[in-house]
Amino acid sequence: MPALTIRKKLMTLLSSWQAYCQAPNEEHFVEFALGVNTLAELLRAGPSLGLARMSHDLEQDALALFNTPDSHPISFEAQARLAEQIENLSQLIKGDVLATQPERRQQADAACYEAKKASIVLLSDQPSQWQDLIAQLGYFGLAIDVLSWSSAPQQSQALLLLDLKFTNDWPARLSVLRAANPASQMIALGLNSEFNLLHQALQLGCDHCFVQDMSLPAMVAHILELQSCQNEEPYRVLIVDDSLTAHAMIRRALADQGIETQAIIDPRLVIERMHEFQPDLLLLDMYMPDCTGVEAARIIRQHPEFLSIPIVYLSGETDLGLQVEALRLGGDHFLTKPFNPVFLNAIVNSKIERYRTLRRSMYHDSLTGLLNHTTSKSHLDLMLEQCRAQQRPLCVAMLDLDHFKQVNDSYGHPIGDQIIRSLAWLLKQRVRQGDILGRYGGEEFILALPGASLAVGHSILEQIRQDFAAIRHPFGDGYFQLSFSCGMAAYPAIEHSDQLIEAADQALYRAKRAGRNRIECA
Ligand code: GH3
Ligand code: MG
Ligand code: MG
Repeated sequence: MPALTIRKKLMTLLSSWQAYCQAPNEEHFVEFALGVNTLAELLRAGPSLGLARMSHDLEQDALALFNTPDSHPISFEAQARLAEQIENLSQLIKGDVLATQPERRQQADAACYEAKKASIVLLSDQPSQWQDLIAQLGYFGLAIDVLSWSSAPQQSQALLLLDLKFTNDWPARLSVLRAANPASQMIALGLNSEFNLLHQALQLGCDHCFVQDMSLPAMVAHILELQSCQNEEPYRVLIVDDSLTAHAMIRRALADQGIETQAIIDPRLVIERMHEFQPDLLLLDMYMPDCTGVEAARIIRQHPEFLSIPIVYLSGETDLGLQVEALRLGGDHFLTKPFNPVFLNAIVNSKIERYRTLRRSMYHDSLTGLLNHTTSKSHLDLMLEQCRAQQRPLCVAMLDLDHFKQVNDSYGHPIGDQIIRSLAWLLKQRVRQGDILGRYGGEEFILALPGASLAVGHSILEQIRQDFAAIRHPFGDGYFQLSFSCGMAAYPAIEHSDQLIEAADQALYRAKRAGRNRIECA
């Protein structure tokens, strides 16, 4: 999320808060709450988990007050608490917090595929107890700063790993630390899995607890996931309503949160428009001249590709029986006009989030979260067409783990799965947004780098090959290492996507024959 947008939304929020402080009525509070909600949604998708957390807390507090229309102005204490939260949040946003987050580079040069510098701090007075964890994260390119509790950071944006196992008096230290670092993400390490202990740690400000018997790979997995920045496409909403005023109001409320909208008046065009726009959710007016919302929903549900798209009805109707009937016939929710914009946004976001999760499971592999075989191939087709149109090269790599059968045989299938995941994570860490990364087969991966020539692609993959081969996978008291082989091919030397895959596969075969742990180019 561009820092500029976040700052702009912050300005909107600050001015609406000022307006409320000057004239504390409900209308101003609605504007303010909407501003908070917008910023929270932006930050939730953004790079700083700590900022997401702070804005979420502020949103919760604002919404709790929102529910009491006749209680404006809010109490002096409530106002002071909100003011403090707003001040803290805006200090962090205005500071260099967001500037330190590297913007993803668009050019395909080898430098932008280097391991990303993460900011992780381990607070421990006995760091040698955590050396395996530090080493494992190091293999994935995550460097850990180790600090003692007496030199704990302040105003940190880092992910803080907190050794509570070897720390006396941790509850007191934890609350001091949380107060000094409102925006950091905190993970407690080494607590017993005991309800009261975990409850206390979470209450004192930990975001997660890794209990004592959590396995090393599970911890690493969780930390890597927290570090991976999720850049999603904007949500898309199609509005079907015969009122242009309704269009304008809804589009304004949703645009504030970066949600893309299209609106149509004639429900008979809905299927065609859905195919074009591929919305994630439909806002459907209940009463339109040619066709009711319920009728339109039934027609939409006749199309298998739209069976699960969320449908939210909009209507002035307060008749409960009709609402129930509408939901029964294929709707997911009912919003009565005039709608509350905060509530509209909350409904739209939560429905789309669940819908996207569902769709993700259709297109992604469950073990690694990467694109599955079919989706990788169809994305490659599309990407090749784009590269052809833009006259850019496209480099395709096929990776296959070496002697993987032996891993399964020697260490067991679950460890084998773990290895597959670890290669997936390493690759995920290194690719840019816009690259294709898929699990092509059991222990085979596909990577497509638009804009990269064969030479550039080779140097990128060569670095990844070396880094993966250096990872020490823990097993029992020891560890083992393994490698992958890789075959590469590139457009425009090779014209079609099937041929690209075929050529990369043949190159991979040559890499295997030549002794493995190497890259060959078509
Ligand atoms: P090579 O270096 O020639 O690639 O040797 P290899 O042992 O890796 O040979 P091959 O590619 O033929 O074998 C792949 C093995 O990977 C066979 C299969 O048991 C294992 N495998 C495939 N999918 C999975 C999976 O999802 N999990 C685990 N644990 N193993 C898998
Ligand atoms: Mg193999
Ligand atoms: Mg294989």
